[in-house]
Amino acid sequence: MAFHSEEDQTEDYLFKIVLIGDSAVGKSNLLTRFARDEFYPNSKSTIGVEFQTQKMEIKGKEVKAQIWDTAGQERFRAVTSAYYRGAVGALLVYDISRRQTFDSIGRWLNELHTHSDMNVVTILVGNKSDLKDAREVTTAEGKGLAEAQGLFFIETSALDSSNVSAAFQTVVREIYNILSRKVM
Ligand code: GDP
Repeated sequence: MAFHSEEDQTEDYLFKIVLIGDSAVGKSNLLTRFARDEFYPNSKSTIGVEFQTQKMEIKGKEVKAQIWDTAGQERFRAVTSAYYRGAVGALLVYDISRRQTFDSIGRWLNELHTHSDMNVVTILVGNKSDLKDAREVTTAEGKGLAEAQGLFFIETSALDSSNVSAAFQTVVREIYNILSRKVM
């Protein structure tokens, strides 16, 4: 989803981006860290909150990312198709300290491709990189899966803020690049 406004000779873009992945991998905290620079140790922070809109500057242009959080829907192993509707970007999140959340990635990718355009710009996000002693998924494994599936890849920590902005920015920048190639 994107719109282009002619007002004031400025361009204005709005991109819908969805957060997906198993329960408790840190999706809500990645969003609150990015949008409000807040972290919740025992988070039930965004239950009921559907999305947050975050302004970003890409190549001197203001871009708005409307970032959707599942608000706990994924506890039922799936989220509704309305959640994916119009999405042009996705952060597919697992927890580097819980292998089962990495093993679920294929299932989430299937779901994403079932409900949305194949061209959704997607980044595979290995969250909780601060939990070094509890790591169950190596960086190489994450990178390897991302390469095999044609995804961007990054490891983040919502706890210590590492790479959180970079994860969102990578997706938004790529969407912007694709769109500006089509428009121009
Ligand atoms: P969601 O269900 O995927 O939205 O996950 P939450 O954001 O609710 O996080 C689940 C739990 O993991 C909470 O207790 C968070 O405090 C914790 N958590 C989230 N991100 C991180 C992180 O980067 N590092 C650590 N150590 N814990 C995190």
